[in-house]
Amino acid sequence: PVEVRGLQKSFGLVEVLGGVDLDIQAGEVVVILGPSGSGKSTLLRCLNMLERPTGGSVRVLGTEVTGRRPDLVGLRRRVGMVFQQFNLFPHRTVLQNVMEGPLTVLKMDRDAARDRALALLTRVGVAEKADVKPRRLSGGQQQRVAIARALALEPEIMLFDEPTSALDPELRSEVLDVMRSLADDGMTMAVVTHEMDFARRVAHRAVFLDGGRIVEQGDPRTMLAHPESARLQRFLNLVY
Ligand code: ATP
Ligand code: MG
Repeated sequence: PVEVRGLQKSFGLVEVLGGVDLDIQAGEVVVILGPSGSGKSTLLRCLNMLERPTGGSVRVLGTEVTGRRPDLVGLRRRVGMVFQQFNLFPHRTVLQNVMEGPLTVLKMDRDAARDRALALLTRVGVAEKADVKPRRLSGGQQQRVAIARALALEPEIMLFDEPTSALDPELRSEVLDVMRSLADDGMTMAVVTHEMDFARRVAHRAVFLDGGRIVEQGDPRTMLAHPESARLQRFLNLVY
């Protein structure tokens, strides 16, 4: 579903991605690791065109998104994204947050949208909070709502950008459990994370980005236990 070739991204004169090649197969879970500023978020954002690449090509679900007139609405419907900050609408209830996409993007009728939203809230374990505002929820609950909201458009790919980094350690596992169940269901996923346990247990492949380039990639268990490059060794020593 994802085919990235020679992806470059510069902001002005600053090159942030310096030629990234990355394939993600259907049902594959890829974790993206790397130091701060290495381009992880930028790479993810190029996959759903929140950023426009300055070079190379990005094919997502058969669409050349770097082409002249990419179908951005269609693409973002099929590629869900979850951010570090949950980005829920503060003045709407949890249920309304999840119904929003089905109502406005998919033009579903209210009953169907509500059924879908409630089913998703049940799936992520926060159905009992359906009628409250997001601020009344814990960070872990808010992030699970954000995942439900992304899933409400029935995406074929899910992108996660440090989904647990804003959470207290004891709340992280409830979010990671939801992500793991998605992976078990065969969702295609790209996950920027520092959660090494998730990388080892759930991901099929790990990609280590440094200075806007992929320095090393492979089986997560092997790669994290026996990093080949000095840069990944240093990174793992520093961070974990
Ligand atoms: P972190 O772990 O801190 O989230 P990251 O690996 O996600 O880092 P990016 O957010 O992709 O890194 O940023 C990579 C580089 O690009 C950084 O040096 C950042 O300052 C720069 N950058 C990102 N977005 C922009 C922008 N809109 N304008 C200018 N520079 C940017
Ligand atoms: Mg980032």
